[in-house]
Amino acid sequence: MKLRPYFPGIPPLLTAIAIFVALQSAIQAAQAKWWKGNLHTHSLWSDGDDYPEMIVQWYKSSGYDFLALSDHNTLSSGQRWKEIKTSAGGVDAFDKYLARFGTDWVEQKWQAGKRLARLKPLGEFRSLFEEPGRFLLIESEEITAGYKGKPVHINATNIRHFIKPLDGDSVLEVMQKNINAVMDQRQQTGQPMFPHLNHPNFVWGVTAEELMQVRGERFFEVYNGHPAVRNEGDATHASTDRIWDIMLTWRLAVLNMEPIYGLGVDDSHNYHATASNLSNSGRGWVMVRANHLTPEHIVKAMEEGDFYASSGVRVREIIANKTQLSIQLDPEPGITYKTTFIGTRKGFDQTHTSVVGDDGKPLGVTDRYSDDVGAILDEQSGPTPSYSLKGDEIYVRAKIVSSKLKHNPYVEGEHETAWIQPLIPGRLPR
Ligand SMILES: [Zn+2]
Ligand SMILES: [Zn+2]
Repeated sequence: MKLRPYFPGIPPLLTAIAIFVALQSAIQAAQAKWWKGNLHTHSLWSDGDDYPEMIVQWYKSSGYDFLALSDHNTLSSGQRWKEIKTSAGGVDAFDKYLARFGTDWVEQKWQAGKRLARLKPLGEFRSLFEEPGRFLLIESEEITAGYKGKPVHINATNIRHFIKPLDGDSVLEVMQKNINAVMDQRQQTGQPMFPHLNHPNFVWGVTAEELMQVRGERFFEVYNGHPAVRNEGDATHASTDRIWDIMLTWRLAVLNMEPIYGLGVDDSHNYHATASNLSNSGRGWVMVRANHLTPEHIVKAMEEGDFYASSGVRVREIIANKTQLSIQLDPEPGITYKTTFIGTRKGFDQTHTSVVGDDGKPLGVTDRYSDDVGAILDEQSGPTPSYSLKGDEIYVRAKIVSSKLKHNPYVEGEHETAWIQPLIPGRLPR
């Protein structure tokens, strides 16, 4: 068949190719959507108090598109029987599990006078829940290490093989060795996966100066919904927001390293009662923009920074380019929003001092930095905040705080918030 020229002067084959390419990119753009997920979740496989199927069911029916089960130092795999009476959640949790999934599904047995329940591995229950383009389960592990009483917990999202936590001679070395173990596994298996540093302020485990030096570290938890993790810091300790700005500034401007992106997660353990002093589900999550709901697409989009963290604020669109960082919120009626654009400019004051105790000795916490680091560049109200780059920004990020108090907050008086990933002019297009 002979192609008729559609446009005078342009060969028909070229025209056809151009139309095909335009259609493809239009289809791709139309397919990209925001997927809601939680990357930090515990079950009876470690110290959570419910059976994994019950937890997955809650997330799926609560509007999440993906979920990673991330238990301490174990994958959800292999043969595992738990004594029902003494397990977290006890007989009540088992009865609810049995009532929901039935004797046909739930496995129990008596052994030496004890009633045991079998924990189902992810590979056995995932088909009950997964649906293409609707709901995805991702294997994970909270690699749970530490150094001299300081917790060093690192999640490995989309891991394939169990990683035994590694020790080291400092917090930094422990982080680096465990991060390396994840990156080595990625290399060996070819499976996209990433580590992320959990709750740096839990037992004041990790400082900004330590975390900023870790190679291969691309994500950390700016918001974790566990009541013990101290995201907001205190008079002596920097908040996770402050830690983020210090790390971004030093990695981008001084150390010549990759940026670190901020995550929101639940770190949920308690599934039978709701209270601020329990680690419940539904407090923090990520919204990831990808064409397909697969682990590979989620990992890739997140590594490109195409996501935001949230504890309630919803975003429709983020435009980050050479001239602006613009956000279109998905506002709720009667609710107001305040957006703070935060960043560090070239030529910033690099001095920083260690925090000392009453005896004058350094406390080993995150240093104090000048106000140039993570400066407030602008504050705006309304559903369409936008920041125009002046040209000297090392990075600009946005934090949006809603007037709406958070339901079941992790700390009293908490407002719904979203954290937009940094726009880094020196690294565009991202
Ligand atoms: Zn942890
Ligand atoms: Zn955890």
